Amino acid sequence: MADTARSHSGAPEPASLSSAPLDLPARFDEVIEDLHVVRLPMVTRFRGITEREVALFSGPAGWAEFSPFVEYGTEEASRWLRASLEFSGLIPQPIALAEAAPSNAHARGSAPAAVANGETVAVNGTLPACPPDQVESILSRYGRVGTVKAKVAEHGFASLEEDLARLREFRRLFPDTTLRLDANAGYTQAEAVEACEAFADFDLQYFEQPVPAVEQLADLREELARRGLPIVIAADESIRKAEDPLRVAELGAAEVIIVKVQPLGGIGAALDVISASGLPAVVSSALESSVGLAAGAELAAKLPRTDRSRDILGDRVACGLGTGRLFTADIVADHEALTPVDGAIPVTRIVPDPDRLQQLAVDPGRFEWWAQRVQSCWSALRGENLRG
Ligand SMILES: [Mg+2]
Repeated sequence: MADTARSHSGAPEPASLSSAPLDLPARFDEVIEDLHVVRLPMVTRFRGITEREVALFSGPAGWAEFSPFVEYGTEEASRWLRASLEFSGLIPQPIALAEAAPSNAHARGSAPAAVANGETVAVNGTLPACPPDQVESILSRYGRVGTVKAKVAEHGFASLEEDLARLREFRRLFPDTTLRLDANAGYTQAEAVEACEAFADFDLQYFEQPVPAVEQLADLREELARRGLPIVIAADESIRKAEDPLRVAELGAAEVIIVKVQPLGGIGAALDVISASGLPAVVSSALESSVGLAAGAELAAKLPRTDRSRDILGDRVACGLGTGRLFTADIVADHEALTPVDGAIPVTRIVPDPDRLQQLAVDPGRFEWWAQRVQSCWSALRGENLRG
């Protein structure tokens, strides 16, 4: 994509959407000398998996995580590698970053920005599908938390009565807590409209991805406006790569975007595309170890604080970075892990514990699979033909 490329809306394409080849040596292990691959066991099945494999390595700026889901192909996974190389300091952040992050005085030059000592970002608690009498005990695990995201539509529209019973209990217990809903694209268009009618009384901050497609989100927003239902729609599953936020903005498909560092190709690329979309953003994790969560926390700390963001999300945007609780083990000791305490996690760099890297290491066969994957993505970032 040339520098002069334009998006569909006629605005200049953000520099970080450029797929210009990176100037890298032929082999990744000429640069990355300490690749580790670990397997993190999960508390319960999530996204269809019970264990999460993640690769970790270090660079001049610190440790980074490379953890595209195992079914992802090279083209998609290479964006995740670009993000990890940037966070480790092995490649510079996009030059546009300095202008794209006006809220952070440290974001200057090409090196990853330092963050203020002791800075924290707010995270939301998560309320999964459960009987109403378990709401209190599940949320008590999060301590004091200002924002809760309730999952709905676990079994699509058939879950509506159960969802409503759970939300009524939630509101009885926590009348002042900020509430978001997430349907993970679980409704059809008509079901989503009916569900929104039913959920409108719960004082929602926003409703994440009620329907699957971007066009459906846009239609749903029109229908809600017609009915006078003031529910803010957020796009999550619709955002899987850097071009997507622009498309969401162009179609008017959502008022809020959920962004993740690795799929968008790094903190710099994410900030770039958030600015270009003009939409308020909430950072969430891609089921990462504490090393990956640290990159999410850094992005969250650098989000532009626009009036629009304040109106919808408040002064302190709660992010979806509390997912450390989904694992039974992490690559650091519990007290150093990025698990939320009273609704916040620190913005900090994580250094894995060498003993844990060893204890959680995958077998040599899986390590070799990941090493080859890193090499394939590395070659793709160098601009080599993916099929070559
Ligand atoms: Mg979601």
